[in-house]
Amino acid sequence: MKKKIFLYIFVIVFFTSISITFVRNFYTEKAFEELFDNYEKFALKKLEDRIILFYKLTYIIESEVKRLSKNALLYMGNYFKDKDINEISDEDLIRIKKKFKIIDIYIINREGVIVKTTDKVDLGLNIFSISSEFKENLLPIYGSGKMFFERLDPSANTGKFNLYSYYGLKGKDYLIETGVTFKDYIINRYSKAYYDYLMNDFFKFKDKELNYIVSLDIYHRAARKTWSIVHKGKYTDKPDSFFNKLQNGKVVRIKKGSRIEIWEKITVNDEDFNWGAGKYINVIFDFSPIYKYKRKIMISSFIIFVMAFVFFYIISLFIFDKFFLKRLFIINKRIKEIARGDYKSKIRIEGKDEFWQIAKSINKMAADIDRVMTQLKNQTKILEKKVKERTKELKFKNDSLTKLSKKLDYMARTDYLTGLTNRRGMLRKIKEEKTRYKRSKKPFSLILLDIDDFKKINDKYGHDQGDLVLKKLAETLKNRVREQDTVCRWGGEEFLIFLPETTIEGAKILANKLRKKVEELEIKLLNKKSIHITITLGISVFDDPDKDIENILKEIDLALYKGKKEGKNRTIVFQKQKD
Ligand code: GH3
Ligand code: MG
Ligand code: MG
Repeated sequence: MKKKIFLYIFVIVFFTSISITFVRNFYTEKAFEELFDNYEKFALKKLEDRIILFYKLTYIIESEVKRLSKNALLYMGNYFKDKDINEISDEDLIRIKKKFKIIDIYIINREGVIVKTTDKVDLGLNIFSISSEFKENLLPIYGSGKMFFERLDPSANTGKFNLYSYYGLKGKDYLIETGVTFKDYIINRYSKAYYDYLMNDFFKFKDKELNYIVSLDIYHRAARKTWSIVHKGKYTDKPDSFFNKLQNGKVVRIKKGSRIEIWEKITVNDEDFNWGAGKYINVIFDFSPIYKYKRKIMISSFIIFVMAFVFFYIISLFIFDKFFLKRLFIINKRIKEIARGDYKSKIRIEGKDEFWQIAKSINKMAADIDRVMTQLKNQTKILEKKVKERTKELKFKNDSLTKLSKKLDYMARTDYLTGLTNRRGMLRKIKEEKTRYKRSKKPFSLILLDIDDFKKINDKYGHDQGDLVLKKLAETLKNRVREQDTVCRWGGEEFLIFLPETTIEGAKILANKLRKKVEELEIKLLNKKSIHITITLGISVFDDPDKDIENILKEIDLALYKGKKEGKNRTIVFQKQKD
């Protein structure tokens, strides 16, 4: 559980820290983005202003160049006015070129072909073939006495900043063209220093706030190439489609790491300055010094993240462990102890907050349980003692009752005088044996015997002596029968002998044996006088399951009666046929 919770805390703290770092870096990135944007806008605005100033300055010079060209053309117009195209010599052209400090002079025929020139390279070139604009602008001025001035523009071939002017002499079928190089003009007219200032230093920014500009250029689109004005002779290979895009006032940004290259079309509002071909600013900013800071911020924020993470993780573990887990374990341990039956120990209370309130309650609860348990134990002991005593008492009473019941049972089945089984006990025995007979089919016999003339003994010697005789006879009978046989005092001076598993023959033998024994028996009376008695016996067997006990009892009674009648001291077996 502890591990799991620590893992959860780890995940929570980790993601919180990482989120904070991300948010922080996101806003840092945004701030830098805005910084760059603002800087770019600011720098571009400054550049635009500077470039417009550049064009204003060059416009003034362009006007001067135009005037110079006009003077040269007018001079040549005057000089060539009576001459045919063939009569113009190269020497004339070179002389005029030197006189006006212009670079080149071209004589162009009606077909647009350069037929004479100070620049031998272009001899025979058809300028109409360079661009249709030439034809459109120049054809109308042939022989008209009018001039046509091009704008200051990079030369299509060399990229040099030139101004070309054309003059259609009245009545002539050729044009005179002069070309003046901007650079040469400025150097001649002003100074090299001024040229260098205008074309180089003018674009070098000393301002500190612009020191992220690593490169600045202005490009002019000429007939064939887009030339750099600042870097002479340099042109860009970017296709027309690229510049067409810029045509719509779009600023193109090319980002390479900390370097941002920007292309923008310059719009000079004043119509006069708006030269025909497109002009573009190309600036490269290098923000690497700022990027360094940015990287530092990112790294520091990562370090802060790691530190914050470790710190928060440790702190939260500490807090969680101290204020929650440890306490939870204390309670858990104590509750387990209570569950095991230790009510005596106590949580040591160290504070007052909710946790320690719970701990206090647990202590109180344990004390309550302890008290109740002690009371319960004591009461249980008392109860156990009482139960023991009662049990003992009950056992004693139970034993006495058992004894009594046994005694009663014995008494119920025993004849008090002779100690033999009485009539009741004997009847039960006979019933049992009858039931057993149904299974074993083993017959049993009964002998009923009666003392002959007992009344006389009573009468002669007294009732007590009679009792003695009965006792003596009982004793004799009991001693003469088998273990399993039962002798019973059937009533008065009558005895019934029960012989299990005994046939009638067996019974007869035993009966006669008993009769003889009794006959021989000398009975000593209390008055020392000895007497003899005889007995008569009736026998019958139980060998028929349908027979009732009453039947057999009747049978032996009849047999005994018969014996008495026939003279006593004899054994009679019950005979069915005879009856
Ligand atoms: P019989 O030969 O025909 O059997 O004649 P008897 O005199 O023996 O028979 P009877 O039925 O006339 O008399 C039985 C006597 O037995 C009567 C009675 O007083 C006596 N008697 C019965 N029970 C007891 C007893 O428990 N003790 C004594 N002393 N005498 C008893
Ligand atoms: Mg009798
Ligand atoms: Mg008798």
